[in-house]
Amino acid sequence: MHFPSKRYQKTIWRYSLAGRMVGHEARTETIRQWTGLSERRVKELFRSCAKESVGQHSVRHRGPSPQKASFFLRSPQMREEAAALAALCRVLQVIPPRMVPNARRELPGLARGERLCSAFEMYQTLIGNSEITLERAVLLVIAIAQGTELQLGHCLHCGGAIVFDPLAAVRRACSYCREAEPAVTESASKQSQTERRCIQQRLF
Ligand SMILES: [Zn+2]
Repeated sequence: MHFPSKRYQKTIWRYSLAGRMVGHEARTETIRQWTGLSERRVKELFRSCAKESVGQHSVRHRGPSPQKASFFLRSPQMREEAAALAALCRVLQVIPPRMVPNARRELPGLARGERLCSAFEMYQTLIGNSEITLERAVLLVIAIAQGTELQLGHCLHCGGAIVFDPLAAVRRACSYCREAEPAVTESASKQSQTERRCIQQRLF
């Protein structure tokens, strides 16, 4: 039996990931960065997918990718959804355990791109309808990996995953605990701070 050369295998891998990202309505530039395919190849792939999906839902977004990390903090629901996706990305090693100052350049790659798609697909299965697209998932991953605008951590009261602005002077608590009675959460915070640190270290 004849097996394709390593170079050919990698090309197949690039197209496989690109096709998956096209299915999630990623932009040309995003697909180019994560797969290493040229802009021309990605556009050809879009045309080919469009021909195959005549009569079906097929979307190609144009213009720049989303840039504002503050999108993930704009409402309690969005903070919860972003935390769920970020936790999946951390578990699947899409988001590295340590900060990466030049994450936009360092993170994109085939293996991580596949794990990103897997995390995003799991997220879609779990959450259903969400405003977080694959493009926004990329923004979330990059922002948390860089750690200047967003960080992933644990609620100081219940230990659940949260995303937060590291410069904001607000309680690092999930939406549920923020709504809870302050006295209760204050007491719980003091009581098990050490214990929660241990949990956090085990999880991440
Ligand atoms: Zn909480």
